[in-house]
Amino acid sequence: MHDVVIIGGGPAGMTAALYALRANRSAMILEKNAFGGQIAYSPKVENYPGTDSLSGSELADRLFQQVTRLGAEFDVAEAVGLEDHGAFKAVLGDDGTVYEGRSVIIASGAKHRRLNVPGEAELEGRGICYCAVCDGDFYRGKRVAMVGGGNTALQEALFLSDLCEHVTVIQNLDFFTGEERLARALIRRGNVKCFFGAQVSSIQGDHGGLSCVLVRLERSGEELRIPLDGLFVAIGLEPENGPFAGVAGLNEYGYIAADESCLTKTPGVFAAGDCRSKRIRQLTTAMADGTVAAIAACGYLSGLDAAQ
Ligand SMILES: Cc1cc2nc3c(=O)[nH]c(=O)nc-3n(C[C@H](O)[C@H](O)[C@H](O)COP(=O)(O)OP(=O)(O)OC[C@H]3O[C@@H](n4cnc5c(N)ncnc54)[C@H](O)[C@@H]3O)c2cc1C
Repeated sequence: MHDVVIIGGGPAGMTAALYALRANRSAMILEKNAFGGQIAYSPKVENYPGTDSLSGSELADRLFQQVTRLGAEFDVAEAVGLEDHGAFKAVLGDDGTVYEGRSVIIASGAKHRRLNVPGEAELEGRGICYCAVCDGDFYRGKRVAMVGGGNTALQEALFLSDLCEHVTVIQNLDFFTGEERLARALIRRGNVKCFFGAQVSSIQGDHGGLSCVLVRLERSGEELRIPLDGLFVAIGLEPENGPFAGVAGLNEYGYIAADESCLTKTPGVFAAGDCRSKRIRQLTTAMADGTVAAIAACGYLSGLDAAQ
């Protein structure tokens, strides 16, 4: 039986493990993909306090090393269910393993949102990508487009403009929602063209994969056909909290209904990071949640110990 079972090995989950371990509690982290979470895909993190710039994968690696040195246990497994048995909780792994914890911290983050337009499902992995750091190199010297206008889209479009012949940026609003500094840097690039008030209406391919996107300009109603080798999509996130809905409780958008205290509706079950209802989803807020959730879990465990 673990003191804390942590679902998700991103910044929130690993920070939670750090605080639990330093409070002499045992921690088991379940991660279904790669430790580090979303930040591992960021080419450059420039807003992490105390560092001018470092890559997301380096930060993920440092976090992983730190919690490993402190004695965290790990499993690469997907949590597909969560049961509340009062004094202990059972997290069900996708291979049938049951992880018992006296408390649970859900730090399952969020995943990329899809465009949901014709052609997307068929061409995913054949020209449509959701991570420039992972797949950008395949498009070196080629023509690509980026859909989105937030920080992630801007950072990734800048990254792609260093590699690719040309980058078309397609943003549905009339302005970028990401940082002004990033937007200015992008617009100054000679190989970048930005369309505002523009929506991808369909994606077309041939035997070789993606061939072009159709883009509708809201104001004129004009439809552009843009030939492309690759299409990158960065239009936000959606949570993956379905397996925890019963025990943790979700809001109308599928995020775990927990506030700054990270408490869910079930005693001993906490939620941290991008998976919970909140306004700002960043590294610093995810790590702050990991801290708060772990300290709350340790307090809960002390209460259980005292009652025994
Ligand atoms: C490309 C990119 C660039 C970014 N750049 C910045 C930046 O410069 N600065 C900044 O502050 N923020 C940045 N962010 C946002 C930041 O990465 C996130 O806010 C942060 O990673 C959230 O951490 P988290 O631990 O809550 O969730 P995540 O990072 O999403 O981690 C959750 C982890 O849980 C795992 N998981 C999910 N469900 C399960 C399950 N059922 N079982 C087991 N494991 C599960 C996932 O595989 C994932 O590894 C960026 C994000 C992206 C995508």
